[in-house]
Amino acid sequence: MIVNLSDQHSLVSNWVSEIRDKEIQKDRLRFRRNLERIGEVAAYEISKVLPFTGKDVETPLGTAAGKVMLDQPVLATILRAGLPLHNGLLNFFDRADNAFISAYRKHRQDGSFEISLDYISCPEIENRILIISDPMLATGSSLVKTIHFLRQEGKPKEIHVVVAIACTVGIEYVIREEPGVTIWCGDIDDELTAKGYIVPGLGDAGDLAFGNKVQM
Ligand code: URA
Repeated sequence: MIVNLSDQHSLVSNWVSEIRDKEIQKDRLRFRRNLERIGEVAAYEISKVLPFTGKDVETPLGTAAGKVMLDQPVLATILRAGLPLHNGLLNFFDRADNAFISAYRKHRQDGSFEISLDYISCPEIENRILIISDPMLATGSSLVKTIHFLRQEGKPKEIHVVVAIACTVGIEYVIREEPGVTIWCGDIDDELTAKGYIVPGLGDAGDLAFGNKVQM
């Protein structure tokens, strides 16, 4: 299932427009903070479909019938570009456990690339709600590889994916490979270049958040 948070206009559309804008992108702090805010709103939206339970709360004046989340989710992100979005999710799911995965595009001389995964730090995920964040869902191959990688650690009971911008082919690939996953995205674009960049997209999310890197 796919949920486009820009289907109805809201502050999310505003922040997505800002992270795409090449002038506003010069302000790296604003770029990171906007991704973080998209993560915060995604956390709020996801919380509406998570299981809750009744819990009485003693106030100074009496007893209130409250509702609290039944389980804390596990928040997983793909280094390094996923960090601001992850931080936004963690601001709201503030008692969550966290997983970090290092995935990167290993480029060949002809410009093609393969996804290389080489580090994972993961809590118990068996039968837990897993929320994976990555700002750009392009080909979908790093996300699918990450899900397969995490499944070796345990079998989550639900998987949600949070992205700022998703590309149609990437969405189709993820849904084909992982039909039970729900994708929450800030917006959807249709084009993907031969080098795996989303158009119009926003450019390289990791570089925009943290600065250029030396190409490996
Ligand atoms: N990763 C990015 O940072 N940007 C894209 O367009 C695709 C993948």
